[in-house]
Amino acid sequence: MTTSLELARAAYREVSLYTVESDPCAVDVSDNTNLWGSPPAARRALTEVTDDGFARYPSAYASKLKDALARYAGVGASCIATGCGSDDILDSAIRAFAEPGDRIAFCVPTFAMIPIFARLNGVEPVTVPMTGAWDIDPDALAGTGARVIYVCSPNNPTGTMASRDAIERLVARASGIVILDEAYAEFARSSCLDLAMVNDRVLVVRTLSKAFGLAGLRVGYAVGAPALVAEVEKSRGPYKVSVMAERAAVVALEHDQGWIADRVVDACESRERLAERLRALGLTPLPSRANFVLVPVVNAPGVASDMRARGVAVRAFQGLALVGDALRITAGPAPMMDQALVALEEALRCA
Ligand SMILES: *Cc1c(COP(=O)(O)O)cnc(C)c1O
Repeated sequence: MTTSLELARAAYREVSLYTVESDPCAVDVSDNTNLWGSPPAARRALTEVTDDGFARYPSAYASKLKDALARYAGVGASCIATGCGSDDILDSAIRAFAEPGDRIAFCVPTFAMIPIFARLNGVEPVTVPMTGAWDIDPDALAGTGARVIYVCSPNNPTGTMASRDAIERLVARASGIVILDEAYAEFARSSCLDLAMVNDRVLVVRTLSKAFGLAGLRVGYAVGAPALVAEVEKSRGPYKVSVMAERAAVVALEHDQGWIADRVVDACESRERLAERLRALGLTPLPSRANFVLVPVVNAPGVASDMRARGVAVRAFQGLALVGDALRITAGPAPMMDQALVALEEALRCA
């Protein structure tokens, strides 16, 4: 439903409520979460609550969570900002660093929430095509002169990585803030976190929603120079991480690393098998370093709704830059992949 209340901000007339297909589906491989579930120690922490600590507010900026994230990331706690998911961090960062009327630049295709968060903050999205080798184009991005530049690597929805060279070149040339979204860094075993430690205009954004298996708790974080993350926190506001989310996230960071590492291995193996089986169907999936595969398919929305009727939810994209129509499939346990591939094969046969 598109609403256009006259008294709302003018820019909101171009924005509608975020809609996802929410009818339950037997096999849901649509959202890149951890399909093996949530980490055991964190789950125990949530079920063994005996005090009533949640009668009171959490700490304003989640100081215990910051300490645990700082140990995990190998940086000082003053270099960390937290949020209600990394979506909250991205939204807050755009607001913190761009005035209404400024621009945010990014290569397409990329994370669909970025133009939405831009509009919500009165900021204009400016797009630049990715290179033919699925890399970012640092000169074109820097050449926009945008106040904020966003890079997602591994990139959602392509799964491809930006090269280290291109990111370094971008950081050297950009006049504004560079946001590096590393939601899938654990699967790639590669990170540009070090750039945020030597350059005070680089903000690395991460999440506990993907490899950590805690999407429902809504915990995200940013790493950057203390002065930079402080602006993100001002923009974000206090009390955004709930008492229970902070407790479970701290436990996961301190006690679930073995489980998470094992599931990352599982996801990468599953991804490679999935890509192989898609190629066996005559399809050409993009080279992914994340926990999902993007595969170009003619009439992707039609194929996805046929698959849904067969009990499998995937994410369909229409007319993606450089790709066209495509399906994004999250890598998960073998039985889920078997069912997803059967549904895909049948849907393609009927198309
Ligand atoms: C899933 C995802 C996020 C994370 O969202 P949360 O709000 O932390 O759940 C951020 N960026 C990208 C590119 C993603 O795919």
